[in-house]
Amino acid sequence: MTIRAIVFDVDGTLAETEDLHRRSFNEAFAEHGLDWNWDRPLYTQLLGIAGGRERIIAYARMMGRQVDADGLHQRKTELYNRTIQEGAIALRPGVAALIDRARRKHLSLAIGTTTSRPNVVSLLKSTLGGEALRVFASIRTGEDVGAKKPDPEVYRLVLSDLGLSGPECVCVEDSRNGLLAARGASMRTVITPSQFTCHEDFSGADLILRNLAMPWSSPEFQPFTSLMDQPVDLCRLLAHGGQ
Ligand SMILES: [Mg+2]
Repeated sequence: MTIRAIVFDVDGTLAETEDLHRRSFNEAFAEHGLDWNWDRPLYTQLLGIAGGRERIIAYARMMGRQVDADGLHQRKTELYNRTIQEGAIALRPGVAALIDRARRKHLSLAIGTTTSRPNVVSLLKSTLGGEALRVFASIRTGEDVGAKKPDPEVYRLVLSDLGLSGPECVCVEDSRNGLLAARGASMRTVITPSQFTCHEDFSGADLILRNLAMPWSSPEFQPFTSLMDQPVDLCRLLAHGGQ
């Protein structure tokens, strides 16, 4: 089936944002007088819980503490966005080039994420410029769904916005939860593992790439699938200069 759209996850996929999220959580905790410090190993585990507010609630329960999860999450989001707006985070290799190629081929572009909308808007504007929001035909975020990834709800909303079926879209993801959500919406799924997800199980993915600027499969991520095993339209799309 012909590819008509590319749907992107945000955190870890468009950009390596997770460590900034982690540091912003810690800043918010300190401001609220909490002695919590989410180091990288702990945060890697906590990323199994989709959604920052949900992550705070789950951790508070583990620690036996009552906290203002909404207030903490709001402050964390403010701190995160302040840093993003300063231009501290760049797109991952190959993302901007793939977006350019897709636009030239008149493919639709969309975003399906369980992060908060302000985080997506800040990142898109700071990396792709002021017109960035118009590039995407659908942007669905954590605020739009009742169930976060791995539930496919956010991607089903995107497909409904686009008026397309899952098999007409390629989804780019970086995590196991994202893969399950994309597959649950019947999209072909390309995985670009990120700093916090490279240990995860990506079986079921159509293709696993080190990043979008290196359109060959990474042998360390099993199962090994060659780009040449993919439909020719996806090959052309992902290959350098492919038209
Ligand atoms: Mg992600």
